[in-house]
Parts: sequence; structure tokens; C-alpha cells
Amino acid sequence: MCEATVIDFHTHTPAWHTASWLAGAAFGADDFAAFMDSAGISAAVVLSHDGLFHPTPQANDEVADFVGKYPDRMFGFCTVSPRQPTAVAELERCFGKLGMRGLKLHPWLQGFSMHEPSLDPICEVVQAAGGILLSHDGTPPYSTGLQIAALARRHPNLPVVLGHGGLHDTWRESLAAVQETENLYLCICGTPPYAARHILENGPLDRILFGTDAGLSEKASQDYAVARVAEIDGWRISDRARQAMLIDNPARLLGLRQ
Ligand SMILES: [Zn+2]
Repeated sequence: MCEATVIDFHTHTPAWHTASWLAGAAFGADDFAAFMDSAGISAAVVLSHDGLFHPTPQANDEVADFVGKYPDRMFGFCTVSPRQPTAVAELERCFGKLGMRGLKLHPWLQGFSMHEPSLDPICEVVQAAGGILLSHDGTPPYSTGLQIAALARRHPNLPVVLGHGGLHDTWRESLAAVQETENLYLCICGTPPYAARHILENGPLDRILFGTDAGLSEKASQDYAVARVAEIDGWRISDRARQAMLIDNPARLLGLRQ
């Protein structure tokens, strides 16, 4: 791996099929790698975009194809709908055949609660594969930090990541959840700067991550993601916090050599 600068723990593939203003985004993995270079991002967790709306095997195949050309820089996370009877088998395929590194869940868009029993066998598969569970958070009613923490507590050996640090409305709850749950991580991604600073000053420094949400665009330039990386300078955080959030913590979770 090249010398680490920023390890971005929350990016997406383009929306190739989803019916939205982003539909048909045409940039590919090479464009995305060029964007990462321009933003000083050495490696990235890459989540599906279409799969959040339509969690199909095809969506997982497309994530695997996207990251496959850059196995040292891009780490694919699959997605499934926990209520589908095929969810466990699809997860096993994603870890066993597609080389996925984790599972992304979006309880709000995908329409389920983290308290449903179907989540437990899913967590067991992710843990057995040495994977990571990353969930969208920050949008009640189905995606709050304490709901996700309850699932993490039922699976204390599984690393569970709050994908958005509670966003604007629930960041205090997400911080409290991480403070009280040892296998829960918090990714500052879309979290406002004053909250990010507070989280870094008061949270467990070894379990805080950073993400840009890059990929949610119709073009490869990803200007807003570049702005989010630049914004860190205005947070007035210590070098130690910066090193932990941007390099040490994500590298340790992903098993990267440093
Ligand atoms: Zn996202």
C-alpha cells in the first residue's frame, strides 16, 4: 500500500440503476482512483449505492467488479435485506466468492429494525468471515445509534460501525452509544464540524473513523468530498486525533499494513 494519507471509511459506487437524479452516473473505478489521488485519499471502503434501494446479488456483483481492479485501495462492502430468506446465503457468497470485507445495512431505506431476530444469523456470518458491519445512522426512527448499539451488544466480537456519527440530529446519541459499547465504532461522515470536534475530544479515540460519502454524484470529480477532507483542518483537533481517525483506526479494522 502507498504511504497512507486518508483512509476514507465511507464512499459509494455510482448509482447505475437507481431512479434518481444520480441515475446513470458513468464514472468507473479508474476515475474514482484518480479522484482519490486528487483528494489525498489512499484507501477507501466502498459501499453500494443501488443496493441500498434494491439489495440484489447483481448490486453486490457490481460493487465487487468496481473495487476488483484496486484490491489494495478499495474495500467492498456488500448489502442484503435481512428479511429476505436468501440473505444468509447471499452474504456467504459475498464473503466467500466476491472477497467482500464487510456488510452495509441501511435500516431506514431498506425498511427494517435492528431489533429484528433475523439480524442475528446475519451478524454471525459477518463475524465468522472476519468482516465488519457498517450501518447507516442518524435518521430516526429506524437508524439511531442506540438501536444499532443494542445489536452490537448482542454480538460483542463483531466490529460495528455507525456510518454517519449521528449526522446533525442524533450525534449526541451516537457518541453516547459508542462510549458505552466496546465493539461500536463511529464514522464521522456528514456529521457537522462542531460535533466532530466534540466527538474527537470526548469519544474513545481508538474507535473513531472518517468518511466523505464520495460517490453520491453524477460525475467523478466529487467536489463535496474534497471539501470534506479539507474541512478537517478547521476542526482544530490534535495531531494524535487526526492520526487515529484517518490512519491508525481504519487500518487496524481493515487489517492493512502500516
Ligand atoms: Zn453513504
